[in-house]
This record gives sequence, C-alpha cells and structure tokens, in this order.
Amino acid sequence: MFQRILIANRGEIALRVLRACQDLGIGTVCVYSEADRNASYLRYADESICIGPPPAAKSYLDISRIISAAEVSDVEAIHPGYGFLSENSHFAEVCASCNIEFIGPPPEAMRMLGNKARCRELAKKVGVPTVSGSDTVDSEEKAIAVAREVGYPVMIKAAAGGGGRGMRQAHNDVSLVSGLLAAAAEAGAAFGDSSVFIEKYVEKARHIEIQVIGDKHGNMIHLGERDCSIQRRHQKLIEESPSPVVTPELRARMGADAVKLAKAAGYWSAGTVEFLLDPGGKYYLIEMNTRIQVEHGVTELVTGVDLVREQIRVAAGEKLSVKQEDVRWNGVAIECRINAEDPAHGFRPSPGKITHFFPPGGPWVRWDSHVYTGYEIPSNYDSMVGKLMVHRPTRGEAIAAMRRALEEIVIEGVKTSVPLHIEIFGHTHFIRGNVDTTFVEGYFAKK
Ligand code: ADP
Repeated sequence: MFQRILIANRGEIALRVLRACQDLGIGTVCVYSEADRNASYLRYADESICIGPPPAAKSYLDISRIISAAEVSDVEAIHPGYGFLSENSHFAEVCASCNIEFIGPPPEAMRMLGNKARCRELAKKVGVPTVSGSDTVDSEEKAIAVAREVGYPVMIKAAAGGGGRGMRQAHNDVSLVSGLLAAAAEAGAAFGDSSVFIEKYVEKARHIEIQVIGDKHGNMIHLGERDCSIQRRHQKLIEESPSPVVTPELRARMGADAVKLAKAAGYWSAGTVEFLLDPGGKYYLIEMNTRIQVEHGVTELVTGVDLVREQIRVAAGEKLSVKQEDVRWNGVAIECRINAEDPAHGFRPSPGKITHFFPPGGPWVRWDSHVYTGYEIPSNYDSMVGKLMVHRPTRGEAIAAMRRALEEIVIEGVKTSVPLHIEIFGHTHFIRGNVDTTFVEGYFAKK
C-alpha cells in the first residue's frame, strides 16, 4: 500500500479523499491555489503546497505545477478527484513517466472511453445499446443527412464534451445548422476539440447510470444504478439509488452491459457508465465517465462499499475487496447537490461569503462539505458547496429524512439551491418517482 498520496483537487472531494487516506493510514499532501489558502481541510493534510494563483489553468489544471509538488513531497500516487485533471489521459501518462501512480484507469482506456464518439463505437462493437446517431460529422450536409435518417428531434454533442457543455437540441434543419456551429464553438473553447456528432433525442428519458469498479487483476463488478433524472441544464441536481423504476432484472442487464464495456477497454478503477432509459424500458448508452463521480456517496450508502478506498487499494495493485455475488443493495439513498446559485435567475452562480452556516445532521444524514461560517466561496471554480445525503429503508422514509435535513441546513450570505430542493421534495411527481430529465425545466416553465 502507498505511504503517501497527493490530492490534486479542492473542496469537498479533496476532503473526501483525505478521509479515505486517514482510514487507510496513508500520509497526505494537499495542493491549493491562492483562492483556497484558507480551506478548512488543509489542516487535516500532513503537508500542503500552494500551486499558484486562483485561475484553475494556473493551478489545479497546471500539470507541471502538480507534478513538481508531487516530486518535492515525495508521494507515490496522485488522486485527481473529479473535474480538473481527473479525465486527462496525458496527465495520467505524465504521472506514469515520473513513476507516480495515477489513481484512476489506465490512460489508453481513458482515451477510448472519455471521448463520447469513440465510446459509442466501442459500445456498438461489443453489443451495448447506444442511441442511434452518427460518428463525428464534419459538414452540414452530413449532419442534415444523419438527422433526417434518425428523425428529429436530435442532440448535437461534443465528442470531448462534459458538464452539459457543447450540447444542443435541434428540431429541424435550420436549428441543426445553427446548433452545429454553436456546439462546435463551445466545445472548441471548453475542450480544445470542436468535433461533434449527432444523436437521436430520447424523449421523456430518465438518466440511469451504473457504477463499476475493477482491479488490475481482471476483476470488474458493478454496484447497481443511480437515477440522476433531476437535472438543470443537463447537469445533475438530485441523485438516488436504487432508481424507483429499475427492476432487479433490468439492473442485472444494465450492470452486465456496463461491465462488458469497461472490460472491453481494459479498464480498472472506478467508473460510471451512463444510460438513458426510455418510457418503454429500453436503455441506451450515452457515455462513460472515467473517474469517481460527485454522486458516488449514494452508492456507498446502499452497498456499504467505500469507493474511494477501493480506488486507492486497486491503484496500489490490491484485488477488489468485494465480489459481484456479494454485492447487496440495502434501502434507498438520495443526494441533493447544494450549489451556491440562484435558481430563479437561470441558476447563475452566487459566489461570496457565507455569513452564517449550520450543517444538517442527525440520524440517516451524511453531509460531505468543506464550508463553514465565514467561508468565502471563490468565483473561480464550480458552485457546489456540499452534498446532502440520506439513507433509509424505503424511498418514502428517505424523502422524509431529506425534507428534515433540508429544513435544518442554514447557509446565509449567498443564494443556494436549498429552496428549490425543498420544493422538489414536496412535488407530487417527484414523490411518486414520476419524472424525466426535463422535470426541472418543466417545473420552471409552469411557474
Ligand atoms: P455531459 O457529458 O455533458 O454530462 P451527457 O452525454 O452525459 O453529457 O448528457 C447529459 C444529459 O443530457 C443527460 O443526462 C440527458 O439529460 C441529456 N441528454 C444527453 N444526450 C441525450 C439524448 N440523446 N437525448 C435526450 N437527452 C440527452
């Protein structure tokens, strides 16, 4: 096992990885930008190194600064968390060339699965269902031909896309042509790769994703699904496991397909295979995320498997501690992402000082966060301030526990998504589990 790990991230995920290292008795090195110099979790690290100014490009995304920090602090491995460099195969290669273990999948698997168009290709090859559509399109003519063949509405998507960016819906040839330009420009600016492809728009879909984890000895298991249908701007707000609509039989099929895809890419470590599930019960792969997800905690709560700990163990060459036949799903876990943003104004970020903070707690509640009274939310990074999770035997009880926790939490000084979460947890359709990925949009349209 490793003696010392560098955590190349910030915020709640840096703290989450720190906790896993402490549980495993591993020494820790945290890196931070000048914007995070007062971060609460730095005190739990054995060593902290400032890696640059607030802009991520000059700190958390700067490979040479992170590698220098790793070399001076003499770590054996780097945990990249999520976001930033976590899905950057070049970074994983640089780590390997410096004899530092990257706590994540092998770079070749990341390259193949991290690109949506290539991931689709591999899925088709091994017989995992995908949404009908194209490989990358390089002309308007080809795009129009594909869209007419699969039938409008369609989704234009960036091959390198993520975080809901580089995506446009089109209902006809005219919106397709303008959407192509917009998606390519957005993808070029955000990911340095403007290639796009077309997919049939799956109407009234639920977002169902399967958690997988594998080791370097060829063992790969799935830990069931998370239902992430409550989204805003194609980004998740609420996640739950199990999904209210997934039967054990469907879970087994989707799980087997997720494992098949990951194995075909020679994958190890934690990963998430994302699908859309249509109202007829058919599912289609949309992408694979080659990292730990924000919402991994709900899977931990229902399965009892510590995913970050497993990631570290398998990176060190150990075998998975669980076998597929031993995985059990107990009760229902739900997570709310608490963001500093203003839902009433297009979810625009609301950075600034938290003037008063009181955390939710008590039985059945898990609160993963790094914030405190007086904490200044920087404008340089994402707007998530914490993840509120509950775990109960039934979905009804989980909803009740979440309502209590949402009423308890106090975050003053910035606008947050808490009031929206309270409304959603009181909404009949949500309570009945009768939602799709357009629920939040529809809710605001009716307001
Ligand atoms: P990103 O990597 O940017 O998160 P995804 O491919 O994972 O993008 O899709 C994010 C969300 O966008 C999905 O959960 C779903 O709500 C919506 N979406 C993506 N592709 C489609 C599609 N073909 N049809 C309908 N909705 C889609």
